[in-house]
Amino acid sequence: MKKLFIDTLGCQMNKSDTERIIGMLSHFDYIVTEDEKDADLYIVNTCAIRQLSADKAYSRLGAWGKIKAEQKKKGRDVKIAIAGCVAQLEKENLLKKFPYLDLVFGSQYLYELPNLLKEIEEKRVCATDNFNAQEKEYNILRTKSVNAWLPIMEGCNNFCSYCVVPYTRGRERSRSVEAIINEAKKIIREGFKEITLLGQNVDSYGKTLEGKPTFAYLLKELDKLEGDFRIRFTTSYPTDITDEVIETVKNSSKICECFHIPMQSGNDRILHEMNRRYNVKEYSSIVKKIRENIKDVTITSDFIAGFPGETDEEFYDTIKAIDELELDYSNTAAYSPRPNTKAGKMTDKFIPEEVKKQRLQILNDKVKEMSLKSNKKYVGKTMQILIDDVKEGVYQGRTRNNKVVHVKGEFKIGDFVDVEITHVSTWCLFANKK
Ligand code: SF4
Repeated sequence: MKKLFIDTLGCQMNKSDTERIIGMLSHFDYIVTEDEKDADLYIVNTCAIRQLSADKAYSRLGAWGKIKAEQKKKGRDVKIAIAGCVAQLEKENLLKKFPYLDLVFGSQYLYELPNLLKEIEEKRVCATDNFNAQEKEYNILRTKSVNAWLPIMEGCNNFCSYCVVPYTRGRERSRSVEAIINEAKKIIREGFKEITLLGQNVDSYGKTLEGKPTFAYLLKELDKLEGDFRIRFTTSYPTDITDEVIETVKNSSKICECFHIPMQSGNDRILHEMNRRYNVKEYSSIVKKIRENIKDVTITSDFIAGFPGETDEEFYDTIKAIDELELDYSNTAAYSPRPNTKAGKMTDKFIPEEVKKQRLQILNDKVKEMSLKSNKKYVGKTMQILIDDVKEGVYQGRTRNNKVVHVKGEFKIGDFVDVEITHVSTWCLFANKK
């Protein structure tokens, strides 16, 4: 057996790709090792969303380059590969920059990896052309958890001005309904209790497929599957969420009451500069519609602090929007210029780092305040949780609307348990078993 050391940075899609890589390579005699000093193949699966993530990947390569040199002295030839979004973005440059790197491959080449590994026995390879390797039937070695990631579509056609995804993951492509249903059935048979559907824009599902099945149709088909499990999905583009999707979530027994809908800014001029296809009023009406239709729904979002040219007043519009929309939780980040993007070229409008930092702090304080406010709504309520972890005798589970709950008692990981919420903190709820 050959040993594989793999490091995954970034989003759930990358984590899911890594599970596929590990599963696929298990067919070719690779096993995963936790010992970083003793692998035959090193892969870093990268994220390009911020420079910080790309730098992390480069530092992994640097460390493995040293290991490779040491192993070479002992007569052992280890291989180093970089995958994912940084690979797709930087292409051959990476081979020039890191002379010890053997393979650069983009996510579209994932199913070609076994062939690429043969090729690098002879020469260094960069596989980042516009190409889409045919999905193949390999095992997927999923991380032990109650939740399984299930990609339904990949890529994005939106070209938000700050985002590299359309350049790294390419244009939108959906997997067939049949492939997704078959994978979901397998996940359920393997004992997972939650399936999270992944896509850069799940509401665009099906547009590239024959017959154009909609996301709502896919959800309904998944909801019909037998078994005791939950369905989640991420990420939604605000104005692409259809009434049918909202109705489907409302009427389903398995689909959880959560929407992750990145707003990015609470100011119309900035949204326009970001090339987002909605304004604050339109975003607000979608949130309102979801709240009116789905009881106890959790709505989460993403925000960027310090987009090029953002004034103090425009930034405070974001704080006002989070407040008024009562968003339950939001991911935040300071703006980071990315290669190829329109915003990345607005160098004369870049906001000083210090100002971005201050705005991010204010944003994070608001997010904390809203999270606590949202959690307080559930004190005294009975909620069903799915137990997913235990630490020092205290079990942790998630509600259908994705609140983390701590509860004492005797449970098994994967149990569905009814609990009564007794008190809350900023990030979690505390409960007693009913
Ligand atoms: S919708 Fe915008 S932010 Fe999201 S992946 Fe597509 S381009 Fe990037």
